[in-house]
Amino acid sequence: MSSYVEEIIEQVIKQNPAEPEFHQAVREVLESIKVVVDANEEKFRRDGLLERLVNPERQIKFRVPWVDDKGNVQVNTGYRVQFNSAIGPYKGGLRLHPSVNLGIIKFLGFEQIFKNSLTGLPIGGGKGGSDFDPKGKSDREVMAFCQAFMTELCKYIGADTDVPAGDIGTGAREIGYMFGQYKKIRGLFEGVLTGKGLSYGGSLARTEATGYGLLYLTEELLKTHGQDMAGKTVVVSGAGNVAIYAIQKAQQLGAKVVTCSDSTGWVYDPDGIDVAALKQIKEVDRARLTEYKKFRPNSEYHEGRGVWQIKCDIALPCATQNELDIEDAKQLVANGAIAVCEGANMPTTEAATKYLQDNNVWFVPGKAANAGGVATSALEMSQNSERLSWTFDEVDAKLKNIMVNLFHNIDDAAKKYGFDGNYVVGANIAGFEKVLDAMNAQGIV
Ligand code: NDP
Repeated sequence: MSSYVEEIIEQVIKQNPAEPEFHQAVREVLESIKVVVDANEEKFRRDGLLERLVNPERQIKFRVPWVDDKGNVQVNTGYRVQFNSAIGPYKGGLRLHPSVNLGIIKFLGFEQIFKNSLTGLPIGGGKGGSDFDPKGKSDREVMAFCQAFMTELCKYIGADTDVPAGDIGTGAREIGYMFGQYKKIRGLFEGVLTGKGLSYGGSLARTEATGYGLLYLTEELLKTHGQDMAGKTVVVSGAGNVAIYAIQKAQQLGAKVVTCSDSTGWVYDPDGIDVAALKQIKEVDRARLTEYKKFRPNSEYHEGRGVWQIKCDIALPCATQNELDIEDAKQLVANGAIAVCEGANMPTTEAATKYLQDNNVWFVPGKAANAGGVATSALEMSQNSERLSWTFDEVDAKLKNIMVNLFHNIDDAAKKYGFDGNYVVGANIAGFEKVLDAMNAQGIV
């Protein structure tokens, strides 16, 4: 007889065809919590525990019609998957990218359940977005899309039910337009979105949180193994919110970051990435990385992908899913890398993850390593509830504390179940145990 875990993985593939990223995420989580499931198989089967875990509580798909600058109507598809509310209101970002489909949103929503649990804060798992591409659109077009998107989404969210945030393509500008529309339609000034601007309820340090949190965790990982960030060479992919602040914090900790990338090419800067130049190009001018050479003539720009070829001690993938494959993993190992910590969600393929682990590279999955973003979003919710704003240093100190504790929780969980140093297993089990406890306590709902 096949195991409960194997049966559920098969069922997910059968019932959700053409959603490979969702299958990948479910497989990774269920295989690593198998040791817990096997020990409780009879009870879990009777309670339909895994069936309830892999089926979203609710998924919403809607039409988003808006008018472009030429007066033509454009129609996009919007999604919100409310995956699991066992430990708190649904929480997770909104991705705006042409690659978005239901399977991508479900993979992200599923991962979010365990990530949010790992933060130790009371937030459930959800994710949303649209196949709208903000690139090349005017401000007015972006506003028109955001308003149309929120006109429908506002029926399903609220400060105590579901609190979306930013993700790829959804930055401060988009959150602002969406918040304005929510307030206008619902007549409520409440903390329904996080990642808001500072003048209307945003939290200091939220912008920096995912990248900074990634480095606080990486630093703790190294410390646990008797090493530290100072003097390390770091390779980063991406040039967005996560990448920029990961680079900045790595440099503050004394490391040298030599690469970054965007969806068309990558930069190698042997003298260390110039964060001010990167911010100007990506946050202000919204331009391509081809511009970087104008600021740093000694740097190299290459079309396509290639950051993982560069020799480093630590690799931090911070762009998108499945951007680090088996060939990249082999190159990293051959170059002597000691750690890979995921800033993006599931950037490492399954085969690459296994290769890194088999070759003794410390590997920390995104659901743990990038949890600083959502943790700080939860801190923004707390500030909104008490109508107060904490200082940058207060938020940053809480973030650091959360990431350090998180690392030790996953390290301890891995050890407890006999998987010492396997942070994938540690993260999945530690995240799962709290959700399981809450689901059991609340009965069959
Ligand atoms: P941004 O949109 O700010 O930046 C994404 C970066 O990755 C950009 O440089 C973009 O290139 C590049 N990129 C996006 N898609 C692709 C692709 N298909 N191929 C190659 N490069 C690509 O997003 P974030 O920095 O916010 O998010 C990055 C990752 O981190 C995502 O996986 C996200 O889910 C995850 N994450 C984000 C959090 C946050 O707080 N923002 C929290 C936790 C996880 P270009 O500049 O050309 O668009």
